[in-house]
Amino acid sequence: MSTSTKIDPKVPSAAKTVVPLLDLKAQHAVVKDEVAKAVQAVFESQQFVLGPAVAECEKKIAEYSGCPFGVGVTSGTDALLVAMMAEGIGPGDEVITTPYTFFATAGSVARLGATPVFVDVCPKTCNLDVSQIEGRVTGRTKAIIPVHLYGQCADVDAILAVAGRHKLVVIEDAAQAIGSEWKGRRAGSMGDYGCFSFFPSKNLGCAGDGGMVVTRDADRAEKLRVLRAHGSKPKYYHKIIGGNFRLDSLQAAVVTAKLPYLDGWTAGRQANARRYRRLFEEAGLVQEGLVGLPHELPDVRHIYNQFVIRVPRRDDLQAYLKEQGIGTEIYYPVPMHLQECFAYLGHRPGDFPQSEAAAKETLALPIYPELSDEQARYVVEKIREFFGR
Ligand SMILES: *Cc1c(COP(=O)(O)O)cnc(C)c1O
Repeated sequence: MSTSTKIDPKVPSAAKTVVPLLDLKAQHAVVKDEVAKAVQAVFESQQFVLGPAVAECEKKIAEYSGCPFGVGVTSGTDALLVAMMAEGIGPGDEVITTPYTFFATAGSVARLGATPVFVDVCPKTCNLDVSQIEGRVTGRTKAIIPVHLYGQCADVDAILAVAGRHKLVVIEDAAQAIGSEWKGRRAGSMGDYGCFSFFPSKNLGCAGDGGMVVTRDADRAEKLRVLRAHGSKPKYYHKIIGGNFRLDSLQAAVVTAKLPYLDGWTAGRQANARRYRRLFEEAGLVQEGLVGLPHELPDVRHIYNQFVIRVPRRDDLQAYLKEQGIGTEIYYPVPMHLQECFAYLGHRPGDFPQSEAAAKETLALPIYPELSDEQARYVVEKIREFFGR
């Protein structure tokens, strides 16, 4: 815990970080012995590619997400890519997704030669506005990729209903949402595929890049396994073209070692979210409309990969907080439809107004499990100060 960091609110410390956006060293201090042991065991085995460490990680993550099958892959990005490859998605196909996400979601669609078709987000959750999905379905639509942004599930019931009516595949981008739930069902287990990322800053991070696809379908799992190893089955015989998308054994061992801690970390994040809500209300900032708190739906398990507020003068606030030693981030400053690389899609500012508004107003605050009460109070105090209240 970083509770030992004494903060003197009267001494602004431009050079010093008082509250980082994320403190992975605090986490490492707790898990380091177990992680070191797990890594050592892989070295002793000298099985660095697939093998028992990957198989165990797949079993554990599949179990944790309520799926019978897990296939370890190189990253969350490649999880999305290989899931679409398993469905044969390519040129001429359309995939419906959100413009308000990390680049990998739409980027993977485009890399396969398919067309990302955007649907705006709901202003409260920044997840897909499900009422607009059906209107974008055409004869070429193959899949819907909902993103469970910030650790809260998109409205999966509505998405599955549209997908069912039009025979579309649903690929959950659960890179920010491992362990999150929609009405008692785990993220990744509701669609045809669930994609996770073990990037270090995700809620369950490894020591580099890593990811996994989970699925309830044995045939799909088998196809994913073949695709992640060049489409080779049996070895050196290729009926389909795959790639090298294998999860490293060392990374798998790290993930497996950290998984038993995940629910405790999630509880820490949720407690921090409750504390922020209380502190912002006590400061009067919510009532005055200066700070919009993240909207938590009923019947969900929000795992708070991010705690994202909405504020006026967002960029000035971020700069001010930086001066005060507080780390924040903007997820995301440019929605996908306005990215230069997607200019060929022909979108203009105003096409997806909710995503564009979110890009101007959102700010992610430190929410990591080890954040102390004192640190959270300091963050809220400095925001109050910025708004002159
Ligand atoms: C992090 C992330 C990814 C990509 O995961 P990597 O492991 O970094 O490739 C994909 N989608 C979303 C929404 C993400 O946040």
